[in-house]
Amino acid sequence: MKRYSPSATETWMTCPLKRHLHAQGWQRRRLGKREMGGILGTAFAAGVTTWKSSQLVGIPTDPYICANVAWGSAKSQMAEMEQIGATVGEYDRAQYEAIARRASDGVRRIMTQDPLPPDWTILDVERILPEWGNCRIDLGAETPLGVVVVDWKCKLSLDQKWLPKEMDRYRLSEQRFHYSAAYEDFLHRSVYAFYIVLVVLEPFKVHVLPFVNDPETLAMWMQARRRTWADMEAEENGERQVGIAAKHWDEFGPCEFQGACFESHLDPHLMQHAYTVRKSG
Ligand code: SF4
Repeated sequence: MKRYSPSATETWMTCPLKRHLHAQGWQRRRLGKREMGGILGTAFAAGVTTWKSSQLVGIPTDPYICANVAWGSAKSQMAEMEQIGATVGEYDRAQYEAIARRASDGVRRIMTQDPLPPDWTILDVERILPEWGNCRIDLGAETPLGVVVVDWKCKLSLDQKWLPKEMDRYRLSEQRFHYSAAYEDFLHRSVYAFYIVLVVLEPFKVHVLPFVNDPETLAMWMQARRRTWADMEAEENGERQVGIAAKHWDEFGPCEFQGACFESHLDPHLMQHAYTVRKSG
């Protein structure tokens, strides 16, 4: 059975056509909050991974190097965006230009207050599991209660009143079930809990959110996903047509491909005006 990553699965379940466009690398030419948040999150994760990888192998960690990795990651992502002709609106320019500094400052600060308890032993950092859609486990650890999976999230800001809603999103997220099941399969041990470490940069705050796994729920999820992934694979092999959603917006607003689908009718030449293609796919 072919398995797909949590983001591919989630997108496919939202709209198979959207997943198809993402897989081809299409994205909006004008970068918005969502894209800038993606660059920030990836850069922050790169710095944290350097920090935790050093700890895993017992090398002293240098905050300057880890912060620099985050800075470099943001800059190289931005260079790629510029290379493919992505643009930033005047309104967003200051925020765009601050991404590298914010990511590196965030890494420096989190390193002064490690949210992971000292009695945890790191088992893996950035473990890629090819059998599970190339999903990437940020960190796996042995704790007094059992094995846990940790996923780092980074946001520029978060009003305290939205924290419960944010927690709810992670509690039943595709990532939680997928990473827990994948790491169980990899270690041949059960995964006690999935942790989100949510780092909010301005003002700086760290939320450690534990979600204890229920084996029955994981089994139910796995059974459902076998069906989903079989359908995705059939579509990939051309055995079924690419479907489209019945709803063209989500909780974050309109789908970014509304113009591609309903104005350009998926004609790549017409799409070039508002969309561009990432080389990294
Ligand atoms: S606009 Fe609608 S049909 Fe097109 S990708 Fe988005 S959700 Fe799918």
